[in-house]
Amino acid sequence: MTVEHDLYVSEDLPADHRSGFVAVVGKPNVGKSTLMNALLDQKVAIVSPKPQTTRNRLLGILTRPDAQVVFIDTPGVHKPRNKLGEFMVQAAQGALPDADLACFLVDVSQPPATPDRILAEWIQEASVPALLVLNKMDLAAPDALLEHAEAYRALGPFQDDIAISALNGHGLDDLLQRMIARLPQGPRYFPADQVTDQYERFIAGELIREQVLKHLQQEVPHAIAVVVEQFKEREEGSIYIEANIFVEKGSQKGIVIGRGGSMLKRIGQAARIEIERMIGTQVYLDLWVKVLPNWRKNEEHLRRLGYQVQGKRR
Ligand code: GDP
Ligand code: MG
Repeated sequence: MTVEHDLYVSEDLPADHRSGFVAVVGKPNVGKSTLMNALLDQKVAIVSPKPQTTRNRLLGILTRPDAQVVFIDTPGVHKPRNKLGEFMVQAAQGALPDADLACFLVDVSQPPATPDRILAEWIQEASVPALLVLNKMDLAAPDALLEHAEAYRALGPFQDDIAISALNGHGLDDLLQRMIARLPQGPRYFPADQVTDQYERFIAGELIREQVLKHLQQEVPHAIAVVVEQFKEREEGSIYIEANIFVEKGSQKGIVIGRGGSMLKRIGQAARIEIERMIGTQVYLDLWVKVLPNWRKNEEHLRRLGYQVQGKRR
């Protein structure tokens, strides 16, 4: 008798198959989401030049014949200014003790700063083995690269360090080899074709939020949350999505909608293209903007919007 759940575990895997959880940690904007998307060759995490784009913990699953690596993309570590910020720091710190390996990402074009030091301490407290990943090597002059790399290494001990560019792909194969070499032998935890633990519905909301971040400046992006209210098949081969964009103030609502609805229209068109690319079918996107006063400071609202602290996975 075959139990469906067991199918992927009982597949013929090599005797030395390796698997495990890799926590990708680093301060905001160092390239954690870019790295994860590049390694998975698929967009599961949203990326933007604005810090604190990633709000939830998110799994990215990489399956090869010899190994399965489960990446935990975390929000960047920063000084929390509100309840949402506290939640984000907790999600980042909480990922470490669960992980088999930490991938400590830094921006090697810059010298270490306080959040880098805090993270290095958390890694040691969690006593999880860690790789120091010196990202954005494409931005660093050779002298600066050497000098900064030395300063980051001094925050360790780390098992290993490697310079990469998540943006242009330099060093990624090597990084993956070194990660896998440090994972324990073990089974596949997820089916081979599963790339993330997030539903398309959630990712669609994130892709909408990404376009709001791209199109708007200053305080508005951090004040928005997106909830997908409907995600359903309409006619053959097309999906209907209705989503609410929540803001904190009436003035922000006006900015997101724009003159005569022009901004919301642009955001919607760009998001629709991204969502269609993800799910591979035609999408009808219906966006609404609503005010939810001070949602970032209100635990009840945060829970409703899906920002609740997750328990341990295993
Ligand atoms: P996160 O906050 O750590 O998840 O960072 P993101 O992945 O969102 O990236 C932040 C910004 O850095 C984006 O504009 C990326 O395009 C950029 N970025 C990421 N990796 C690299 C890299 O290797 N080189 C350069 N030049 N930019 C990068
Ligand atoms: Mg991110």
